[in-house]
Amino acid sequence: MKKVVKIGIIICHRYHTCGGGKCFRSMKNREGAFSIYKNMDIELVGYSTCDGCPGGNIEYVPEEMKKNGAEVIHFATGMVVGYPPCASITHFKKFIEEQYKLKVVIGTHPIPEKYYVIHSALKTWESPVWQEYIKPTLATEEIRLAYN
Ligand code: SF4
Repeated sequence: MKKVVKIGIIICHRYHTCGGGKCFRSMKNREGAFSIYKNMDIELVGYSTCDGCPGGNIEYVPEEMKKNGAEVIHFATGMVVGYPPCASITHFKKFIEEQYKLKVVIGTHPIPEKYYVIHSALKTWESPVWQEYIKPTLATEEIRLAYN
């Protein structure tokens, strides 16, 4: 029997009307940040937004996700590809890992190619920290194009 990993997703509130299409598609296809679960089943136990800058819901919503069994919190790719990317992302990650002892993965679906192109031109992700943060969702050009 496959291991079931329970996850929660927190999205950037700028995209609060997002239907989650890319996240759910990549979860099903094990693409982007979900590629780490190739041999596992995924159960989504929570989905919410940060509640808008400065992200007040980060303080509370992981607790509910944890009560539902979440072992990993994913920050949706919108936090990485938005203009500008979330400036608080490192604080959020450290807070959730320390306060709730939950693993945090940066990203969900693969970075769409159009965002990859503009952020490369803007040199948004040049720092070592951002290089690390985009790793799970970088994928290949072919996959990025499929998520455009
Ligand atoms: S930029 Fe960060 S704090 Fe602001 S709405 Fe998006 S995720 Fe929340």
